[in-house]
Amino acid sequence: MSELGPRVRSEAARWRTWLLWVALFALVTTAMLPLRPILSDAHVALAYLLLVLFAGARAGQAIALTTACFAFLSFDWFFLPPFGTLALANPLHWFVLVAFLVASVVATRLFDRSRNEAALLESVRARDALIASLSHDLRTPLTTIKALAHDLSSSGDDRALTIEEEADRLHALVADLLDLSRVNSGTVQLAIEPNEAEDLLGAALQRVSGQSSGRAISVRLDEKHPLLFGRFDFAQSLRILVNLLDNALKYSPPDKPIEIAVHRDGASLCFVVADRGRGVPHSQRGRIFEPFYRPPGTQADTHGAGLGLSISRALAKAQNGSLTVHARDGGGSLFTLRLPAIDVTDTTESEEAQRSTDK
Ligand code: ADP
Repeated sequence: MSELGPRVRSEAARWRTWLLWVALFALVTTAMLPLRPILSDAHVALAYLLLVLFAGARAGQAIALTTACFAFLSFDWFFLPPFGTLALANPLHWFVLVAFLVASVVATRLFDRSRNEAALLESVRARDALIASLSHDLRTPLTTIKALAHDLSSSGDDRALTIEEEADRLHALVADLLDLSRVNSGTVQLAIEPNEAEDLLGAALQRVSGQSSGRAISVRLDEKHPLLFGRFDFAQSLRILVNLLDNALKYSPPDKPIEIAVHRDGASLCFVVADRGRGVPHSQRGRIFEPFYRPPGTQADTHGAGLGLSISRALAKAQNGSLTVHARDGGGSLFTLRLPAIDVTDTTESEEAQRSTDK
């Protein structure tokens, strides 16, 4: 009984809304009837169109389309001669009626689409705000847990080490969530400036050297362009490359080599991370860039929550670049990070400009 209550109430509210719009429609029609001798086709069409738009804005697509159909019939019956019949004396009036119906349907559809988009945008904003505030609130207790576990481990309790490791994992997850919401909301601070590609590669290799446990990561530079420069944020691009290398280490067998290469392709610098893992099936290639998405078959005990690639792609886009994945000939994946390239002469100019502003 208590479950039926809200359903019955919402059904009653639905009927009330429909009755209200029927009443409004009848009101507009009866108000126009005595004025028929002085109203032109355009006046009637505009009055009904306004009613349809109002219905679209307040009551949604179903009521607006129903109103448009009733308005079409009423327009013909009451306002186009001969009155009181659906027949039309002037064939041109068919054009007026059809134009009215088309305008009503198109306007209703557009209204509906913009309402849905606005609602979607609103929910994305609400989700980002929730994530940002949750991550903030979780950080402080996690820092306390980690500090306490650290104290306990120094007194010889082995379990404290596990607590510390798990706290670290949670901390990293919370930091990733916060970053994702910052990148998506466009509030991440980027220092976009001329940087050398080789420096970025070197820093990325150094960063992963701890985790690679001696696995071979070979490097290939562009022989045609020994000096490669781009305009990008060094720290954030480093983060993307480290994520790609981490993934290559995680998702490919330990005895298979990993390769990182950089080359110039038109106006872009292309950093390619290649592995000989099981690859990403074609159907999953778009989805792995969605937050929290891990394809079926990803081992649950593999560290990570499915956020790395979504953050990386958002960071690449924020720098006017891109991040894509392709299948590698002979098996494995090729992840390509593209960033805007600059010519060496541009770099010299920009460095000179920088120096003169520093003075
Ligand atoms: P996570 O590694 O935490 O799951 P990511 O966003 O970095 O999150 O990756 C999402 C998913 O994409 C991974 O779970 C994995 O299934 C797949 N993936 C990423 N990199 C590779 C790779 N080099 N080879 C095969 N699959 C990969």
